[in-house]
Amino acid sequence: MHIHEYQAKDVLRSYGVPVPDGFAAMDADEAKAAAGKLPGPVFVVKAQIHAGGRGKGSFKELGADAGGGVRLARSADEVREHAAQMLNNTLVTVQTGPDGKQVNRLYVEAGSQIDKEFYLSLLVDRATGFTSFVVSTEGGMDIEAVAHETPEKILTLGVDPATGFMPHHGRAVAKALGLTGDLAKQAGALAGKLYTAFMARDMEMLEINPLVLTGDGELRCLDAKIGFDSNALPRHPDIAEMRDETEEDAKEIEASRHDLSYIALDGDIGCMVNGAGLAMGTMDIIKYHGGAPANFLDVGGGATAEKVAAAFKIITADPNVKGILVNIFGGIMRCDVIAEGIITAVKEVGLSVPLVVRLEGTNVAEGKKIIEESGLNVISADDLDDAAQKIVKAVGGSN
Ligand code: ADP
Ligand code: MG
Repeated sequence: MHIHEYQAKDVLRSYGVPVPDGFAAMDADEAKAAAGKLPGPVFVVKAQIHAGGRGKGSFKELGADAGGGVRLARSADEVREHAAQMLNNTLVTVQTGPDGKQVNRLYVEAGSQIDKEFYLSLLVDRATGFTSFVVSTEGGMDIEAVAHETPEKILTLGVDPATGFMPHHGRAVAKALGLTGDLAKQAGALAGKLYTAFMARDMEMLEINPLVLTGDGELRCLDAKIGFDSNALPRHPDIAEMRDETEEDAKEIEASRHDLSYIALDGDIGCMVNGAGLAMGTMDIIKYHGGAPANFLDVGGGATAEKVAAAFKIITADPNVKGILVNIFGGIMRCDVIAEGIITAVKEVGLSVPLVVRLEGTNVAEGKKIIEESGLNVISADDLDDAAQKIVKAVGGSN
């Protein structure tokens, strides 16, 4: 689960991490009032969306020259003007995709004088099993270009979970940032606090870009992005409360209500499968035959007809879906239950795209009979390969 920058800064602040003072605002008047509570003379108005690249982004409704999603202001009135322009408009950044994201919240914070911008993040390194710092002296808005063109300027430092964070990790981070003396001490302490926050709150990713050296010789986190391990959220009710559903895919929220594992993808073949492994295999074989899956969907082992119907409705509600492939291996899950679920859903929402069904396993004969007798226009398939070829053909993909 991801949270907004202002929420991430609240979390970091509670661990003693240096971040600028600031206040969230839901409308232009609140933004102006927020500026009134800050010392000035420079304020920064920041669009709060779950995507980076805001500084270099632009608003769909305002055009490229009107300014991006991070703007400097020199008075409370100017803060209000920027806020009024940004709110309810659509910010397009390299990370939002061409559709952009509507800005519903802002963060107004104290402007910092920046002498240098660094990059510092923490993530779980799957190759080593360590929580690792990723560090670069070349922070700021062009970190993607640095990663691409000069990857040697990005260093990774793993922390062995057996020891946890040690002073030498802090010194290594400071060295990687090219800092000495008091700044090296600040960097070491900062790294320790970030590590503590990361572990204590079950984070998956914590990115500070930029970490800056201010004009008065202090390190400060000017941007913060946090991703949490969703499986650990029951341990952190205060974090779970920060969830902003308007930032998430509506289909994924609906799926989580029915306890379905669903992830929206870019293709046009909707998939309903039981078991994560079979779902991955189904997506692979669709690709292999020249198609593209519109989603990953695992209805789980012991799904009921209602759950199957909910899953089917989520798939058909996606306007990108040009065909549906149901691939069920009946084990604990019975094929007749799946068949009933599909028919219930089709009766309710209709079926305007081709549907290929491959059933195998427990009660397969009953399942097939239910579908045949329903009079639905279903293309049946005998095995996975056959099913994938049929659906790719039905949506008009290459075969
Ligand atoms: P994004 O990564 O989405 O573009 P950032 O929060 O990193 O958003 O802001 C973009 C840039 O704006 C930063 O690299 C920094 O140069 C500048 N900036 C952000 N916050 C402040 C601040 N409080 N004071 C001064 N400059 C800031
Ligand atoms: Mg940033």
